[in-house]
Amino acid sequence: MKIVLENLTKKFPNRNKKIKGDVIAVNNFDHEIQDGKLIGLLGPSGCGKSTVLNLISGLEKPTSGKIFFGDDDVTELPAENRGVGLVFQNYALYPHLNVRENIRFPLENLRGKDKLTKDEMNSKVLKTAKLVQIESLLDRKPSEMSGGQQQRVAIARALVKQPRVLLLDEPLSNLDARLRLQTREELKRIQIETGITTIFVTHDQEEAMSICDSIVVMKDGCIMQYGAPQDVYDYPDNLFVAKFLGSPQINVFKGEIRGSSLFIGKDYVMDVKDLCGQAGRNCEKGEISQNANGAGSSEIRPCYVAIRPEGFEALSENDTDNSFGTLRCEFRKMEVMGRDTSIICTHEAFEGTVIRAIIPSETRPQFIGGEVCFRLKPSKVHIFDAETEDVIR
Ligand code: ATP
Repeated sequence: MKIVLENLTKKFPNRNKKIKGDVIAVNNFDHEIQDGKLIGLLGPSGCGKSTVLNLISGLEKPTSGKIFFGDDDVTELPAENRGVGLVFQNYALYPHLNVRENIRFPLENLRGKDKLTKDEMNSKVLKTAKLVQIESLLDRKPSEMSGGQQQRVAIARALVKQPRVLLLDEPLSNLDARLRLQTREELKRIQIETGITTIFVTHDQEEAMSICDSIVVMKDGCIMQYGAPQDVYDYPDNLFVAKFLGSPQINVFKGEIRGSSLFIGKDYVMDVKDLCGQAGRNCEKGEISQNANGAGSSEIRPCYVAIRPEGFEALSENDTDNSFGTLRCEFRKMEVMGRDTSIICTHEAFEGTVIRAIIPSETRPQFIGGEVCFRLKPSKVHIFDAETEDVIR
């Protein structure tokens, strides 16, 4: 089922008398979700993710805008008639009912032509329990199961009515790290098997990136960027998205574009006219320097330079080629983590506390007078306008 959200806005009355105006939880949200896809809604706490989900489910009414399921305008349709399955963080199972009864519950409320016989209900319950692999637990009460098993029951209960759309609001947040990993793979399998269009709300970027076909990154009720997870990671449109995706976080420096040269502090780090990898998929050679300064211009343009932890190449003793620029950092410490090593260092133009560069453990960096020098991998370097924080393409 394709879902179209058209200029969706949701305002709540503001109860804080010191602040004027409404709370705008969702602001002109315009997005199309393709049939059968798993979409991740991602963003910091309070950015409006759950409100978007509640609008789609019908639990909230939009202040303005429209919602379509396929060609049907469902904006005014009550929640119970939308054919939506909902799963929340806290499972919300009935404690006095066993697993079979919990899953069967939504079927017992069907009336009229949809009403099912007891055998039909039991057969649906068994089929759904098998799908989420809990058929051996049907006689247990929720209190007799692990968190992961309870969440599977909640998913089965949402799926048993064969919903048109499945909405998952932070479904893995109550699980420990190992179960979280396992259950998110399960969610992906179930979604592929059922082919139900699924929207998955999380503030955990790794979770969203690992299982979603596409992600929507939100801030203050607005869409900051959407696309395939790897594309959004590789080509962030703005500093917010660059900082939000990736763990450890991207390293942000104050920089300057002088002509076609990129500087971080006083370090010349690279020629930006060759920075097509970071500048955008359609970037032609020379486009950056032209866009930034006008061709041949020696104007200075302040910017932010954001470098992924894997974007540093530590120079070793044998490196004598200085034709590329070099970022000279003050070395603090190294953390060896099996395959990779983190070099923790600082730089006068760095925006955070410490820089984290991740290099292969077999590399032997050279340390001279407390300094460690890096060459930067162009595809892992992103440049943003200092004022708008939009990417410089
Ligand atoms: P979290 O990750 O913490 O769950 P979220 O991204 O899901 O956050 P929402 O719960 O959608 O964010 O809230 C978005 C904004 O709307 C917040 O500022 C929140 O305080 C506000 N909000 C949500 N529901 C209401 C309500 N019923 N009345 C007033 N304000 C609300």
